[in-house]
Amino acid sequence: MANVEAVQKSSFTFDSWVVDARKSHILQSRCTQPLHCDSLNKEDVSISNTLCDFCQYEKELELPQLPEMTFASNCIRLEHDKGFGIEFNALDALKLVDSKNDVMKVAVAEAWQESRMDDSKIKDVVKPFDWTYSTHYKGTLFGNREVYKVTPTDEKINVEKLKVKSKILFYQDIILFEDELADNGTAQCSVKIRIMPDSFFILLRYFLRVDNLLVRIIDTRIYYEVGKNYLLREHMVKENKIKDLKVSLALLSNPQDLWDHLSTASSDYDKIEF
Ligand SMILES: [Zn+2]
Repeated sequence: MANVEAVQKSSFTFDSWVVDARKSHILQSRCTQPLHCDSLNKEDVSISNTLCDFCQYEKELELPQLPEMTFASNCIRLEHDKGFGIEFNALDALKLVDSKNDVMKVAVAEAWQESRMDDSKIKDVVKPFDWTYSTHYKGTLFGNREVYKVTPTDEKINVEKLKVKSKILFYQDIILFEDELADNGTAQCSVKIRIMPDSFFILLRYFLRVDNLLVRIIDTRIYYEVGKNYLLREHMVKENKIKDLKVSLALLSNPQDLWDHLSTASSDYDKIEF
């Protein structure tokens, strides 16, 4: 890494939206401004913005441990000129992780004992919280609540339209967090945006593979078409036990291609009207 302090920012104005993307380094493992952070009363909600990233994460999350790679400053943010918007960041994604229960405990113990993994290795990864960092994050809506409303919808994103090759005006692919589960697989969360001449498409994806056990993909897709007064938002959970899948090993590391092979566990569709 050439310059760990470097923050890459890019901005794009599209229709009534301003899109900002920010990429930076991994969250440090300790406070970066102790004199300053210690002097602040951390109970006071209003001071969040002035804490360093490390202290802000400590204050706002109850997780006993963070993903090995947490990109605290990475973000994609879209703001509409009516005064509201949606953004995607690691802190809000991690707020939705279960900090108290290891939901995977029983399944993992069984699967790994069958595969004769030794107990010490199991202890490395199995902790009393959701160490897979599974999150149903759909992005963070911000701004004036009177200018937008979220309602369930039957309208789906027109996938055929998205498949049509069209010029890409702006593209960003940003990682929010990643953890290798003590070498027992991977958990990663990332967000991509693609802006085309008459629409934009966002894919927020959480991907989990617990070796010898299961794969899970939680996707949030957001679509906007010029001329419409709403965003479509689709949230889908797909999951399978690895032993029930007939796919190559390589596919288990490739969520994009794996997607079509997985069973849908749940889905919901809403519309953000403005
Ligand atoms: Zn600090």
